[in-house]
Amino acid sequence: MSAALPVGHHGVKTLVVEHHRGTAIHPRAAQISQRTMEILRTVGVEQIVREKSDEQFVQDGAIMAVETLAGRELAYFIANLNEGVRDVSPCERVFISQSLLEPLLKTRAEALGAELRFATDMVSFEQDESGVTAVIQDRDSGRTETVRASYLVAADGAHSRIRHGLGIPMRGRGVFSNSVTIYFRGDLTPLLRGRNLSVIYVNNATLRGFFRIEKPLDRGFLARR
Ligand SMILES: Cc1cc2nc3c(=O)[nH]c(=O)nc-3n(C[C@H](O)[C@H](O)[C@H](O)COP(=O)(O)OP(=O)(O)OC[C@H]3O[C@@H](n4cnc5c(N)ncnc54)[C@H](O)[C@@H]3O)c2cc1C
Repeated sequence: MSAALPVGHHGVKTLVVEHHRGTAIHPRAAQISQRTMEILRTVGVEQIVREKSDEQFVQDGAIMAVETLAGRELAYFIANLNEGVRDVSPCERVFISQSLLEPLLKTRAEALGAELRFATDMVSFEQDESGVTAVIQDRDSGRTETVRASYLVAADGAHSRIRHGLGIPMRGRGVFSNSVTIYFRGDLTPLLRGRNLSVIYVNNATLRGFFRIEKPLDRGFLARR
């Protein structure tokens, strides 16, 4: 969907094929860099992303590490998300979960002419001199369809079937960690003690992971090994 935005902005028609039935149900990525915000600004979604980010998170929080939430602080990697970078761009860094961001990207991509097909798999593709022919399949009906395009963008994730199909090997380090995401509700105000914290890494003998806490500081998630 992200790729559909700038090309749609330049008047190129796209077909986005996604295995899942809808946009992300997990929070996943949240830190949006200034460069990403500049791209979102170009395609007309910066403002709504800022508004939704502000609804979800206290802005300009720190990225830091603790032994425990209630206990010793270990380090502040970034004391304020925009400190020192505010003047280098008209855009600011924000936090917004993928589950909130993706519907915004979807709405804008469609407004720019993208056709989105969820619950659809791309099962095979072939490239020739003038473009790509792909077979896509509706997961519910099993119906297949052949589509033709000038280009195919392989935005199919870390285990990319397209990358494998093209014989492109994985380089560098593979698995970094296997983690679970735990959602919780609970009053975190006493533990935060007035600190504005965007990402809290926890590192002790029994727990390694990170917290992200949402407004009004009564919910969040812990991603832990
Ligand atoms: C808890 C957590 C926190 C994170 N925090 C951050 C962060 O703060 N900042 C950051 O930059 N990153 C973060 N990440 C990582 C980030 O979520 C991923 O790097 C990013 O989503 C990868 O995007 P992608 O488009 O390459 O792949 P994906 O998000 O995996 O998307 C690929 C999509 O392709 C679809 N697909 C695959 N094969 C097919 C097929 N054959 N046909 C149809 N569809 C197919 C899949 O269903 C999937 O939806 C975090 C991840 C997690 C889990």
